[in-house]
Amino acid sequence: MSGPRPVRAPRGSALTALGWQQEAALRMLQNNLDPEVAEHPDKLVVYGGTGKAARDWRSFDAMVRTLRTLKQDETMLVQSGRPVGVMQTHEWAPRVLIANSNLVGDWANWEEFRRLEALGLTMYGQMTAGSWIYIGTQGILQGTYETFAAVAAKKFGGSLAGTITLTAGLGGMGGAQPLAVTMNDGVALCVDCDPRAIERRIEHRFLDVRADSLEHALQLAVEARDARRPLSIGLLGNAAELLPRMLAEGAPIDIVTDQTSAHDPLAYLPLGVDFDDMVGLAAEKPADFTQRSRESMARHVEAMVGFMDAGAEVFDYGNSIRGEARLAGYERAFDFPGFVPAYIRPLFCEGKGPFRWAALSGEASDIRKTDEALLELFPENESLHRWIQMAGERVHFQGLPARICWLGYGERDKAGERFNDMVAGGELAAPLAIGRDHLDCGSVASPYRETEAMLDGSDAIADWPLLNAMVNVASGASWVSLHHGGGVGMGRSLHAGQVSVADGTKLAGEKIRRVLTNDPGMGVIRHVDAGYDIAQSVAADQGVRVPMAED
Ligand code: NAD
Repeated sequence: MSGPRPVRAPRGSALTALGWQQEAALRMLQNNLDPEVAEHPDKLVVYGGTGKAARDWRSFDAMVRTLRTLKQDETMLVQSGRPVGVMQTHEWAPRVLIANSNLVGDWANWEEFRRLEALGLTMYGQMTAGSWIYIGTQGILQGTYETFAAVAAKKFGGSLAGTITLTAGLGGMGGAQPLAVTMNDGVALCVDCDPRAIERRIEHRFLDVRADSLEHALQLAVEARDARRPLSIGLLGNAAELLPRMLAEGAPIDIVTDQTSAHDPLAYLPLGVDFDDMVGLAAEKPADFTQRSRESMARHVEAMVGFMDAGAEVFDYGNSIRGEARLAGYERAFDFPGFVPAYIRPLFCEGKGPFRWAALSGEASDIRKTDEALLELFPENESLHRWIQMAGERVHFQGLPARICWLGYGERDKAGERFNDMVAGGELAAPLAIGRDHLDCGSVASPYRETEAMLDGSDAIADWPLLNAMVNVASGASWVSLHHGGGVGMGRSLHAGQVSVADGTKLAGEKIRRVLTNDPGMGVIRHVDAGYDIAQSVAADQGVRVPMAED
């Protein structure tokens, strides 16, 4: 009988499938649903509101069964979390091709999506939930750390010491915020309406303490700020109520952002609704709930604008809260910028993005060894050294041990090839799965986030993620995914992902070199095309061919 049950990926070096490429997909699918990793594993929900790894338990079982028997020259096709076919391909082809949550333009809205979902025809794949490369909250930690480091560099002399950051949302992704702020030596005050989210983040050492009340939270924050001591504080409550209250009371906040699940109005708690009634009410009256949550988001965003007017550094953290607030009629919603144009775009121009890998052995020592290899490989990269050291000390692994760091064009392929050599040389206990978030330099079209305010106005051009998926298929990735609606919700994004398995074979090494060159190469050419100088000089220096620049 198919039904909810605890899922855990096999560990060790013994295969349960016919090869490591298939085994890796199998373990990473199962790892996404490990109770240590997934936010709501019983519902197959991994993170990000309702981001799922499989459409239903029957589909999950069918994928596991198929992956166990899939041959080296076969490819399993997944349509929104359900395996729909196995085709004969060849050994350079991906073992799995995934398309999740895609809808034709005019139908690409939550209402139609939910109608189809209720009929059992689709599922929401978020970014790395349905593409099986979610590695727990660490996955987003480094990007969040980089963002807060950029905020510090821009406005606070390079450190967040002596500042208070106010945010909300301590879920799968948002839960990285407190640790990212304290890693930058600041104080974080984090609101969430779900007591379990607060407890879970404390348990995983992403959050330091829970305050009893708003007054208590502010007192703890101010004391730590004055002592220039890093501290993160969880506060239970509704952000749409607490932020306006803090603004009215003149709370001394320096930085404001948000990572509630605002991309999905049914996952954002409206004012006047008890947290315990939220799920029932959202299911019973989705239209009414949507309207109420949008109105609440408008109050929430209005308070963020208020903090901005009072001098705080305020940015949207990629959850579409500005778009939802504007739908509720709040006209100043877009007065503050998204985090990509504000801090991340220069990195994207260099092909930099979230490179991640998981140890299929289950051994933490494999990650330690790859950490050391990276430091050796890039001795001059100071921020990488600082990050890898802190991550080694402070990151609690969830599920299969994994690591993330941001690497650029010309770096990712080097790291990938070194990892493959380590597997080949027997230095690691088993192969590695090397992948990334869909939030990357050349893999996404998302006008409220990754492609907001592009220099040439090409924010909504969605050819790029399609080309990205195709080039990764053509280059030899182990599995490739093409999704819609991740991060910012239905109708607002198209994005692609790839995972490449370092199994120590010569063939894997050749595939990895191509994929990990071409994949970030998409970021460089995308930004060259949009007219960014940094991308143009990276392309020229590193020999990235751009035909239009060759005449
Ligand atoms: P999640 O669903 O795991 O967590 C969301 C949290 O928000 C939950 O803990 C929920 O209790 C809380 N919440 C909902 N309404 C609230 C309210 N009114 N007041 C206080 N708390 C409230 O989602 P997640 O994976 O943490 O992602 C959060 C958001 O960030 C999503 O919209 C996601 O798409 C976006 N995101 C951004 C990035 C980025 O890099 N910027 C990356 C991934 C996800």
